Amino acid sequence: MAVLIVSDIHANLVAFEAVLAAAGDYEEIWNLGDIVGYGPRPGESVDRIIELGPQYSLTGNHDWAAIGRLPLDEFNPAARFATYWTTAQLQTSHMEYLEGLPNRGIESAFMLVHGSPRHPVWEYVTTARVALPNFELFDSPVCFLGHTHVQMYISEDDARRGIAPRQPGDTDLLEIRGPKLIINPGSVGQPRDGDPRAAYALYDPRRGLVQFRRVEYDIAKTQEQMQLAGLPRPLITRLALGV
Ligand code: ZN
Repeated sequence: MAVLIVSDIHANLVAFEAVLAAAGDYEEIWNLGDIVGYGPRPGESVDRIIELGPQYSLTGNHDWAAIGRLPLDEFNPAARFATYWTTAQLQTSHMEYLEGLPNRGIESAFMLVHGSPRHPVWEYVTTARVALPNFELFDSPVCFLGHTHVQMYISEDDARRGIAPRQPGDTDLLEIRGPKLIINPGSVGQPRDGDPRAAYALYDPRRGLVQFRRVEYDIAKTQEQMQLAGLPRPLITRLALGV
């Protein structure tokens, strides 16, 4: 069986549809949070997730911000503006869905969070130093997380030796065995690892394999939607750069 793992869709419905079309056969979808924020189609993105019915759907900091569960002090001006705009677009049904999302998914085989096991909604796992203490907070062989918008993986051994998270190549396969792993499938709607293509991962729990994937989408279309919505220019331009 295959699981489609998506994170940080950020209301970029064009990118999300491209991922769904490219992913091939999958039986389950797991969403690691930040369905909304930054992008031009928040309500429609929540509706699409509801329609797909993911087995796991977690909350992210932008989902919380959009429903007023998080102070916006730490958001930069563009992100703050986009959050107010997002909140104004959401209907009650969207709000209720976002309200109900958990911040963790824990099974014997895996842990799912948006940020990190230590701070599920907030912490950015970007370095070995941040990753290391988090390995002690889950017992499963793998923890999938998002939030940084950077597709990567790091093993507990690498973290202990101070080796930076590794950025996989397109379609790279990773076997889950040996030391524990933290894996980030990257961001569907706003990649920041220098590759503007939408990022996601396919996970085969039976064989213990994770495949990192990228797919091109119509970036100009999302940018046009953002422009018409009056969203901040830096948020529009960054999509084409993958930063
Ligand atoms: Zn995000």
